[in-house]
Amino acid sequence: MSDSRPVVTRIAPSPTGSMHIGTARTALFNYLYAKHTGGRFLLRVEDTDRERSTEAAVQVIFDGLTWLGLPFDGEPVFQFARADRHREAVLQMLEAGKAYRCWLAGEELTAAREKAHAAGHALRSPWRDRDPRPADLGKPHAIRFRGPLNGDTVVEDLVQGQVTFRNRDLDDLVLLRSDGAPTYNLAVVVDDHDMAVTHVIRGDDHLNNAARQTLIYKAMGWDLPHFAHVPLIHGPDGAKLSKRHGAQAVAEFADLGYLPEAMRNYLARLGWSHGDDELFSDADAIAWFDIADANKGASRLDWDKLGFVNAHYIRLADDARLADLVAAVFAARGEPLDEARKAHALRAIPLVKERAKTIVELADQLAFLYRARPLTLDEKTRDLLSGETRARLTRLRGQLAATNDWSAEALEALLKAFAESEGVGFGKFAPALRGILTGGTASPDLGRTLSALGREESLARLDDALSPVA
Ligand code: GLU
Repeated sequence: MSDSRPVVTRIAPSPTGSMHIGTARTALFNYLYAKHTGGRFLLRVEDTDRERSTEAAVQVIFDGLTWLGLPFDGEPVFQFARADRHREAVLQMLEAGKAYRCWLAGEELTAAREKAHAAGHALRSPWRDRDPRPADLGKPHAIRFRGPLNGDTVVEDLVQGQVTFRNRDLDDLVLLRSDGAPTYNLAVVVDDHDMAVTHVIRGDDHLNNAARQTLIYKAMGWDLPHFAHVPLIHGPDGAKLSKRHGAQAVAEFADLGYLPEAMRNYLARLGWSHGDDELFSDADAIAWFDIADANKGASRLDWDKLGFVNAHYIRLADDARLADLVAAVFAARGEPLDEARKAHALRAIPLVKERAKTIVELADQLAFLYRARPLTLDEKTRDLLSGETRARLTRLRGQLAATNDWSAEALEALLKAFAESEGVGFGKFAPALRGILTGGTASPDLGRTLSALGREESLARLDDALSPVA
């Protein structure tokens, strides 16, 4: 093929109702390679399964790419709408003798397949070398590819290297079914050719298809694209990613509170590397990405690493954006935040964002702000509020009421000085204080907890808990 063609990549998902994380990574690799080379990244919706290809399922693909921040160039191509063009290509092969009409069906087909296997090669229909009678033409029949009987088909793969297939193992595949429907491999080749795709980057579960597709390209006299088959993503235990590993769909990762920029960084690193770099910007990824550097071995989803990458991007994220995302988490839980509560989240986020690994964790760290007074204290806190601790916290309440600096640092310093003046360690009062302020749910360190809660609310919660039981 001529290598002077401008680079065109594509993602070609089938609408299944969700976008798999493997599809997301394939989209990312195609996107990065196109951007790296100044090329174009296209979308083709492989919607030939009419039952599954609902409008909603197609929308999931658009939403997934939008959320991931991987915009495609131009208009999306819908495969089903191109069936006439696919049939045209089949007829061209038929006329050129590269394909033949085949009436093999049912038991005859099974028998022919068994016979071929017994003879050590893949199916060749007896119709390959038989002239159809005019009377047959009116009867339903398929059109099959006339594959080479001998020799090899070599796929020069940018990731897998040279992969050789024996032609005798590749059957005369059906190009057009007896109902007139074009088949998968045929449609992919015609579409990729018409879309001027130069680089087919996809999961290595399609490597066998690449051999069949190569034969079709050659039969049509078309330039081959470069193939790059990337190993699939496995679960942490090395087995193929499945439900039992947890989230698989892009939307699930979004719901778990991962940021799209973190997913891009993490997925780029999953199956490709640039030295030891773990954290890099989109611009870096585009500058560095070459599909030839993709790993040959399967990659494993590593939740700890994903959490580490996500935490990094949460720290970098704008607080107002984080407040919106946190509000969405509360809304999804059926506890929408009103304006005042959202404003409170926004003020508190700088105090808690440093340690959160997901947006859900961030929301959990803020939930204590919204507890209604008087808080129901957990049993542990009630037990801790014995005479001595109660008296100590009452003294602390007095000191807190006397300070005007409600910054986390000042409050942390106050607590430290208080512990010293009492001649005790933090352990003697901090757990009870935390319980009083939060009701026993997650919260940051105490200086931050007090600061995030605000002066008035902190003192009120102390009063609720310390006032003599009526
Ligand atoms: N529709 C195929 C899939 O979802 C992709 C085919 C291709 O990339 O060539 O696996």
